Amino acid sequence: MIRPAALATLGALLLVAAPAADAQSMTQGPRLSLPIACKVGETCALQNHVDRDPGPGAKDYRCGRETYQAHGGVDIRLLDMAAQKRGVDVLAAAPGRVSRLRDGVPDISIKSPDAPPLAGQDCGNGVVIDHGDGWETQYCHLARGSVRVKQGDQVATGQPIAQVGLSGNTEYPHVHLTVRRGTTTIDPFAPGLAPGACDPNATAANGMWDAAAAKSLAYVSGAVLNTGFAARQLSMDDIEAGGVAAPTPKSPLLIAYVRAINLQAGDVQAIAITPPRWIDPGAKRPSPAGRPEGAISDVCGQADTSSRVAARRLHGRICCEARRRLGDQPDLRDSALIDAESFTSQMGDSRSSRLERLLRQGLLR
Ligand SMILES: [Zn+2]
Repeated sequence: MIRPAALATLGALLLVAAPAADAQSMTQGPRLSLPIACKVGETCALQNHVDRDPGPGAKDYRCGRETYQAHGGVDIRLLDMAAQKRGVDVLAAAPGRVSRLRDGVPDISIKSPDAPPLAGQDCGNGVVIDHGDGWETQYCHLARGSVRVKQGDQVATGQPIAQVGLSGNTEYPHVHLTVRRGTTTIDPFAPGLAPGACDPNATAANGMWDAAAAKSLAYVSGAVLNTGFAARQLSMDDIEAGGVAAPTPKSPLLIAYVRAINLQAGDVQAIAITPPRWIDPGAKRPSPAGRPEGAISDVCGQADTSSRVAARRLHGRICCEARRRLGDQPDLRDSALIDAESFTSQMGDSRSSRLERLLRQGLLR
């Protein structure tokens, strides 16, 4: 796989022959705006960066683990398939001309037994935009039938080109953005870093992003995707599907759930609901084992069905803590050791969108 790094050499050569302004644009590429019409940290999340590790391991531009082996782009995901079905636009990140596109690939998780063979079409439905000087952006996993540009079309920054789908090699709704110059994949967060290098202090603002996108895509360690209450224990697939039915006064169980991504060994999740006299605050259960993709779900709490509380708003306080110690579960991704790091997740009444939004903001910023 060709790594971003040949860029520095090429840029230096061009500097000799071209006027300064041209050399700068050719070296740095286009300014990129957010390629999706969602609010990062509220209605979508950045799940994977470019893998900068040339070997069998994986590391993102900050030397973190928010990537996987040989991943060549940036994945920005929706919170669940219900959001995908409602429709979320994919946007041109910079002005340019549509050079290639594909449509017609079905929206189906690669995990599904019914998924067709990829046949080299890992991108699924995709659009490639040529920005000049060899720079292009590619948008993958678009919804079948949603591509609304034609080959040769000129597009402006922020112009909707399609909608987020589930086509190609994907198991959750997201747009995968690849930035290339020629045949070289460029990490838009760190286009100037040497091949294989990462920098714990690098920021999105020093990448190719415009100011608004850099702010939206600022690095966060871990993100909470979903929180809510359910009347039954949920699987990860249930949460991915979205539209989880809320408990009713007759529900025998009251399940609080939270799904988070990019967890690392040693992370601690604390779930807090405020103030439940009718919930046994001592109810705890150990966290399920970590899953290879680094996402886990925790379930805790127990409703007192003898009371009439379910008819009220869900107030109360209950905490459960799932602590994953380095050593117990050292390998969450690609069998590589991960440094211990902690973050806290909280959740609120799922029927209080304002509270949930505030909690998410507090968590993700
Ligand atoms: Zn991707």
